Amino acid sequence: MSESSASHTCKSCHHVFTGNYCNLCGEKVLTKQDRSFKTVLNNAFRTVTSVDSQFVKTLWLVLTQPGFLARDFANGKRVKHLNPMSLFFVLNLIYFFFPLIQLFNASLNTQLLSPLSPFYQTIIAKKIVSMNLTLDTFTLFYNLKSTSLAKLMVMAFVIVSSLPLNFLYWKKNKFFTDHVGLAVELACFNLFVNAILLTVIVRVFGLGHYLNETSLTIIFIATNLYFILRSGYTFYQERGWRLALKSLVMVAFLKIALEIYRSILFFVTLIML
Ligand SMILES: [Zn+2]
Repeated sequence: MSESSASHTCKSCHHVFTGNYCNLCGEKVLTKQDRSFKTVLNNAFRTVTSVDSQFVKTLWLVLTQPGFLARDFANGKRVKHLNPMSLFFVLNLIYFFFPLIQLFNASLNTQLLSPLSPFYQTIIAKKIVSMNLTLDTFTLFYNLKSTSLAKLMVMAFVIVSSLPLNFLYWKKNKFFTDHVGLAVELACFNLFVNAILLTVIVRVFGLGHYLNETSLTIIFIATNLYFILRSGYTFYQERGWRLALKSLVMVAFLKIALEIYRSILFFVTLIML
């Protein structure tokens, strides 16, 4: 009788099964070979390289075939690629190491470019007096607090950005979580293209002085339109003028949602300071 057809009792959940893996929890039956030092090293190496290559492959898919990852995930094809949520957390971590591009992070200077600036300035002035700080110290405290809050609040932005998809594509019989899945993929796209990649390009080519709210807005709208159009085609099988119209509505919503997100971030930061 071969090793795989013998019955085993799982070491982790005590389920009785045949084969090399527990069919309840996935625990592997250890063989003598599994305990050798060479195998342990080999496994460690393979885990690191496969996570790396899966990360790169999944990210490449998000960039070149928007909506594909979310579609596979919604259809239950989940082993081939990195889970969109894991990809999101990794990219979010990378972005917030150097949150120089003002996307989900917004410094006090960026906040003061908002149309609500005169109103903000009044509130800030009061806050500075009540905290008994100079403007420079206040700015420093504010930016640190705001960045750490933004890391958490991005998740709320992702959920909110999925809401219009429920209405625009309600005839497509998708679940609420399917729309959220696409919104997570979109957030991955934005974190990589409009935050990480843009930071690298600006640094390498020294284009810092071309970056302002206007150029960032144009880049944001153009890249998001690309993603929304392509993913509408792939994820929702939408075509023609409906696809074009719904995509424009979605991009306009995203731009407005980003502004609202920033003003909420502003008030939450002031409250928590
Ligand atoms: Zn088990």
